[in-house]
Amino acid sequence: MSDKNPVFPLSLAALDRSAPKKSAANPYAIATPQTATRNAVQNAMSNPARDKYAAAPPLASKPHAAALARERELPPVPRPNALVSDAVRRTMVARVARQGVKDQLVLEALATVPRHVFVQEGLASQAYIDAALPIGHQQTISKPYIVARMIELMRGGASLRRVLEIGTGCGYQAAVLARVVQEVYSIERIKPLHELAKSNLRAMRVPNLRLHYGDGMLGLPQAAPFDGIILAAAGLQVPQALLDQLAIGGRLVAPVGAAFQHLQLTTRAGKAEWISETLESCHFVPLCPGVA
Ligand code: SAH
Repeated sequence: MSDKNPVFPLSLAALDRSAPKKSAANPYAIATPQTATRNAVQNAMSNPARDKYAAAPPLASKPHAAALARERELPPVPRPNALVSDAVRRTMVARVARQGVKDQLVLEALATVPRHVFVQEGLASQAYIDAALPIGHQQTISKPYIVARMIELMRGGASLRRVLEIGTGCGYQAAVLARVVQEVYSIERIKPLHELAKSNLRAMRVPNLRLHYGDGMLGLPQAAPFDGIILAAAGLQVPQALLDQLAIGGRLVAPVGAAFQHLQLTTRAGKAEWISETLESCHFVPLCPGVA
């Protein structure tokens, strides 16, 4: 697939049209690069939740009769698979870089985390566009650009040991963070979303990530201090508990505001000294107290 002039949402079915079809009459078609593309697209029609680490099927293997019969009966349902999503993800990363994210470590992390695994099945083909998508319970998975930008701001080029995320949601940003820093703690206040994140992340086996169910406005004092804190939900101000749990020299990135929001970068300069900068505008779901 070409990275040039991508049209979103990408139609995976469109890729299939140019590929030679393996038929009952020619079950032993010779493997070519096109065969790989076709196999990838056919493979993409399987359950995306199970395709996470699926390898492409053996090239030019003899098709199973039942599978061929099913193929004749059912219209193809376009879904991404490992091979296709890898290429689409690289296009997404190039776009995020064009939008201004420069931190190579963050861009590399974005290139490796399969975002389609974190979105609802019906939205998998839109997983790599720059949009927030619904994840249920009136919450959203953040746009790839904003995920990358916030991590870049929090890192400030430094290598971070321990960070806290408020608002796990479906777990996508936590998975990206886990590729960039040594230890990640993430808190979610909505129990079904906490469970969803656990199940999304299970197959990925992310040993340096701890998910907590609770009110993130209180932080996680038992794991503090943190070198960085990211809030994925917007309040009118950053809770003092979170500022207190920032290590001296640590950086906190948060959306602040209601209808109009902007990113705020706060650096802890001393025991009782924090310096804040107001950055670009943004749009996040609200930071809410308590648990649900
Ligand atoms: N980090 C997510 C974004 C999820 S949306 C991603 O990867 O895309 C923001 C999340 O913040 C929602 O799931 C919402 O329930 C959660 N949230 C809001 N207030 C919270 C609080 N006080 N504590 C923990 N989570 C909170």
